Amino acid sequence: LVRLRQRLSRSQGGLGKGLLALLSRDRLDDDTWEEIEDTLLTADIGVAPTQALVERLRERLRVEGGQSPDPRTVLREELISLVGTDMDRRVQVTGTDGNPGVVLVVGVNGAGKTTTVGKIARILVAEDLTVTLGAADTFRAAAVDQLATWGERVGVEVVRGPEGGDPASVAFDAVKHGVEHGVDTVLVDTAGRLQNKAGLMDELGKVKRVIEKQAPVTEVLLVLDATTGQNGLIQARVFSEIVDVTGIVLTKLDGSAKGGIVVQVQRELGVPVKLVGLGEGADDMAPFDAAAFVDALLG
Ligand code: GDP
Repeated sequence: LVRLRQRLSRSQGGLGKGLLALLSRDRLDDDTWEEIEDTLLTADIGVAPTQALVERLRERLRVEGGQSPDPRTVLREELISLVGTDMDRRVQVTGTDGNPGVVLVVGVNGAGKTTTVGKIARILVAEDLTVTLGAADTFRAAAVDQLATWGERVGVEVVRGPEGGDPASVAFDAVKHGVEHGVDTVLVDTAGRLQNKAGLMDELGKVKRVIEKQAPVTEVLLVLDATTGQNGLIQARVFSEIVDVTGIVLTKLDGSAKGGIVVQVQRELGVPVKLVGLGEGADDMAPFDAAAFVDALLG
């Protein structure tokens, strides 16, 4: 939590501070409200959510009978409610009926899939769960090697196929290995070439189908780079059309001043942000929590 606060407050460029300074002005005139709106838009909160938030703030901060409410409290409450407190953000890492949990990790190249798989594996191992990694991003030899390095670092088995081999067959082997060894969780890294939507759809569809011959997929995590803004959001939408995404991992929040993207992506895709990436290191991942996130934004 401390790390979340440090990393976010460093990168958010004082979104919270800027907003609070504006909201604390003696007179909240139309110009000030416009500045508040611009600040929220710059943080990628999105047009409709920004308008709704400003309306709520205007309503609640109206000075009545000399009693002005504390802007920080009001802003905090409204931001938390915008980010959402009623979503189930647990990652389903274990299976039922003696099956391993199967977590499929999808997203465009460079979003941080492989790193996310490594970081999740590390957390699970620390919780005494057994883990197998499936290197189904067979199109990039580097991706397979990178996953193998994570496997060594974290101390878990990595199932890999021949370079350029069939991703579905690697996914199948990884889950088979997990089933046969009574492993708790199989994490499957996938390829993310978005140039060819039909091809990707075929590939991910096949990966999911062959896995489910052995064990149900318990979670499909879409990895999204927070620094890519609207473009990332469009790509995310394509993935959510291809597979039933159950949760979002928002990476590189440490390098982005656009934490507001959390609000937009949840709205666009209708699934919660479950984890956030806060750096390249093995421990730079945190479960997403609305109140902690807003507190980090507000500094
Ligand atoms: P993939 O192609 O989706 O598998 O992406 P990778 O896992 O290879 O990550 C791409 C680059 O982003 C690598 O250099 C990672 O170290 C970096 N990266 C991944 N997650 C984060 C994060 O949360 N913060 C930062 N700063 N870098 C990250």
